[in-house]
Amino acid sequence: MPHTETETRSVLPAVGRVYVERDALEYPDTERIMERLPDAPVQVIGHYKDIFNRPGQHFQTQKHAPALILAVEKENLLYDGKSRVASWGANLPLYYNAPVRNCVYNCDYCFLQGMHNSGNLVVYVNTEDFMAAASRKASVEPIFLSISYLTDLLALEPLLPICERWISFAETNDNLTIEIRTKSDLFRVIRHLGKPLNTVLSFSLSPDHIARRYERGCAPLQGRLLAAREAIRAGWRVRLCIDPIVRTADWKRQYTEFVREIFRRLPSDGIEEISFGVVRLAPDFLKRIQLMRQDSDILYFPFVTEESGTYGKVSTYPADAREEMKRVLEQELLNHIATEKIHFVHG
Ligand code: SF4
Repeated sequence: MPHTETETRSVLPAVGRVYVERDALEYPDTERIMERLPDAPVQVIGHYKDIFNRPGQHFQTQKHAPALILAVEKENLLYDGKSRVASWGANLPLYYNAPVRNCVYNCDYCFLQGMHNSGNLVVYVNTEDFMAAASRKASVEPIFLSISYLTDLLALEPLLPICERWISFAETNDNLTIEIRTKSDLFRVIRHLGKPLNTVLSFSLSPDHIARRYERGCAPLQGRLLAAREAIRAGWRVRLCIDPIVRTADWKRQYTEFVREIFRRLPSDGIEEISFGVVRLAPDFLKRIQLMRQDSDILYFPFVTEESGTYGKVSTYPADAREEMKRVLEQELLNHIATEKIHFVHG
């Protein structure tokens, strides 16, 4: 489905520059993106890591006008996700991939700030190779694949219809369930795809004041709820993530009211599952982020670092605070939705 120029501009930050790997020049997606961004200066490069991994970059400065780096991924087409991607209680082997690295949004707590040297976005234009890798794995057994673990893919859909391609692709493979997680309100750009059975659309939700203050650039809560309601009405598989829960001074009242607001707007029988979890980051990521930015109070809570089973070490709220947050959220969620649909995530 064609997307208008207005839609493209409404979700993309000002793109500072487009870098194109020499190997990516001949791909149709490269041409498509360049057509969409006719005013951006273009520079041809040898390998995307020459730009993306170079030392001395400043993630947050680059977020003001990130470059797009168009590249061909040759090696890392599929990752084992059992220590990364919440299982939603499903018994399927978990995988994730990275059709895009980095995000058009800029959440204060985002782990990508600690993972990548650069705030620029890498868009891999060889989607078919990622699909072939997923297909090979799914030919052996049913799998659950997160395709937006290192980005918000739906937010980029007006620029490049990667979600649309994956949704259509998953419909051709009974062994493949994909998850698209988003803080956008852009369901409208994929709603024409009918009622896909093998796609889980996960809306990541936060109380409105948290979204406005700490989830910079993301759709407001009301927009996400509206998009989730439309998706449910259109017969899509919808899940919700209340993650991360941020311990502000008034968190208890705010999150309780927020859960009530969700269920005033959404029918509980249209929601497959809800996952929730508190702020948590790999300790080295948190250190890097703190060194980089002092403009966000939520990064300076007196976190503790602890072992977290399969997830390794995490920096997070102390156990008593965490347990209290879990209990309060769980109690309120249980007023609205069956216990088997609630899934606490930590790690
Ligand atoms: S939407 Fe997700 S990937 Fe994007 S900045 Fe926020 S936390 Fe990071």
